[in-house]
Amino acid sequence: MSSPLSPASAKPWLVAKFGGTSVSTRPRWETIARIAAEHHARGRNVLIVVSALSGITDLLKKIAEARGDTARCRQAQAAIIERHSALLRDLELPSRGEIDQWLSHLDRLIADPRCAASALDWQADVFSLGELMSSTLGAQFLRERGLATDWLDAREHLRAQPLANQNEWNRYLSAVVPAAPEPAFAQALAARGEVFITQGFIARNAEGETVLLGRGGSDTSAGYFGAMLHAEVVEIWTDVPGMFSANPRIVPEARLLARLDYEEAQEIATTGAKVLHPRSLGPLRRAGVPLVIKDTNRAHLAGTEIRAAAADTAPCVKAISARKGITLVSMETIGMWQQVGFLADVFAQFKRRGLSVDLISSAETNVTVSLDPTENLVDSDVLAALAADLAKICRVKVIAPCAAITLVGRGMRSLLHRLSGVLAEFGALDVHLISQSSNNLNLTFVIDETLVDELIPRLHALLIRADALRVEDGAVFGPSWQQLAGTAVAPSRIAWWQRERDALLHLAREGTPRYVYSLATVREHARALRALAAVDRWHYSLKANPHPAILRALHEEGFAFECVSMAEVEAVRAALPALAVENILFTPNFAPREEYAAALNAGVRTTLDALHPLLHWGELFAGRAIHLRVDLGVGRGHHDKVKTGGATSKFGVSLDQID
Ligand code: ADP
Ligand code: ASP
Ligand code: MG
Repeated sequence: MSSPLSPASAKPWLVAKFGGTSVSTRPRWETIARIAAEHHARGRNVLIVVSALSGITDLLKKIAEARGDTARCRQAQAAIIERHSALLRDLELPSRGEIDQWLSHLDRLIADPRCAASALDWQADVFSLGELMSSTLGAQFLRERGLATDWLDAREHLRAQPLANQNEWNRYLSAVVPAAPEPAFAQALAARGEVFITQGFIARNAEGETVLLGRGGSDTSAGYFGAMLHAEVVEIWTDVPGMFSANPRIVPEARLLARLDYEEAQEIATTGAKVLHPRSLGPLRRAGVPLVIKDTNRAHLAGTEIRAAAADTAPCVKAISARKGITLVSMETIGMWQQVGFLADVFAQFKRRGLSVDLISSAETNVTVSLDPTENLVDSDVLAALAADLAKICRVKVIAPCAAITLVGRGMRSLLHRLSGVLAEFGALDVHLISQSSNNLNLTFVIDETLVDELIPRLHALLIRADALRVEDGAVFGPSWQQLAGTAVAPSRIAWWQRERDALLHLAREGTPRYVYSLATVREHARALRALAAVDRWHYSLKANPHPAILRALHEEGFAFECVSMAEVEAVRAALPALAVENILFTPNFAPREEYAAALNAGVRTTLDALHPLLHWGELFAGRAIHLRVDLGVGRGHHDKVKTGGATSKFGVSLDQID
């Protein structure tokens, strides 16, 4: 209750958005109730914005895209009912109760004739039910917990406006709301109550129909409401404790970004960090409202704070992000160099299809552009139609699926000298397009999609090593994801040779040079490797160090042995006479025939890494089990000479030789 001395309209507003996983369980709803109550007790008016329960929008998508396949619709519908009923039971709310109206609506929509055509207005209606249900169920729970909470239909307040050139798909499923501070709205709401809950993701168009704000668009709703209410802050509560220097689920070493300015955060979001929808920041930046990203499961962590830039920011890479599902369209002029208006002609075709172009790179006779699936409906029909139109004015090549990898940070152009190691990583890859944004905030590489998950962690490590990602700057970079999860290896471990200093000095007095090994360290590392659940067979390479004591220690730790010559096979058998032959893997490269014969006769596992032995001494291998070493065509390493795969490598049977 507001006292007469402090009119409700004068209370600051706080908008708190909770994502899918944050609204899916009872403990999370208890956290939401606590957070809302705390803000309210501090004298704030609170607007809670919620996503659908995690996975529900994907189930609704199955219905939205079923094109009249009723069995498919009913299956998804049953799963949706089950998920909500289970949560209602957990929350000890009456079964179905208030969400019944939405479930009946879903039932009617499935029976609607528009289902067969997957009409866009009907799709938007289907999708909207996820958020309508979660907010309804949430309002009920918060009231049960004693927090007087008003349920608000977001569509009454978020009015989408069609943009020039927006096609139907965008107007219904990825609409835009021109949100700016609206004191009258803030006042009217404050006159109604102090704690509200509403839906993310949905709005209404001028015709009064339901429209969506694009996948992940609940963040955008929070941004819109935050700007309209001129909130003190918008909080985005999710399943990670902030925005990280890379997707923490792919890069455990990724560092929390404690503070970002709007432009950097915008760039990180736009270039792939799903944690924040790229459209959520614009309205807040214009209204000067800060945004904070926090972890619902670990509410005590400070998270990422996004506000206006401090004046003196040194150039530095803040993050590396990736977007998958990118389609490249490469257009080559047909023999008309310096043809006036070529760009205008090709872009007109994209406009005609309502396709928004993301990256561009051009030469005298070629222009290549990328299409981002989050901003476009890039299906095969649209692409075929576009290619047919373009073919009239140029030669067209569509390259997909690609991924865009982006380095984000202020002053990218003055950081190039630090990026040599990072650029070297692209040496072995087919880079389809490079683009440097004119705002000097990003540098983007487009490569084949399959390469990206493996590449990102390596690039992240290289950026730190090159001091381009300056993680020692405590004002910007917080702890790593690993440290926050408590799984990090203590960084300041004292090396064994420091710990054993006295013993080593003592040995040195007996005579130098000499080699000293720490078996305890060998065992410790072996155990750390064995703890990786994803690998089920471990080999130690003899070439690393064939000392018998090391071989025995590793044998006891459960390792098998990899040898590249018969001399190594003999060395391991001499050190471990009782070792079963299956625990020896022979991986020769350009070995003479006698070595293969000896290895096969001894019964050790033998690897073939070229066709030559098979073609010339085929009889040797007849009836034998052999391993094939395959060259998948991509190499890794800081220098060509150490790459063990790819066109220039001598190792392995190439894929086209497998038959
Ligand atoms: P919500 O359902 O709460 O909206 P999202 O799944 O949309 O949550 O976004 C959170 C997810 O974003 C994280 O779980 C993480 O996998 C992903 N993500 C991608 N890039 C980043 C990044 N740079 N920092 C943090 N999270 C990221
Ligand atoms: N539920 C919607 C989606 O999954 C919106 C959101 O969660 O932000 O895309
Ligand atoms: Mg999200």
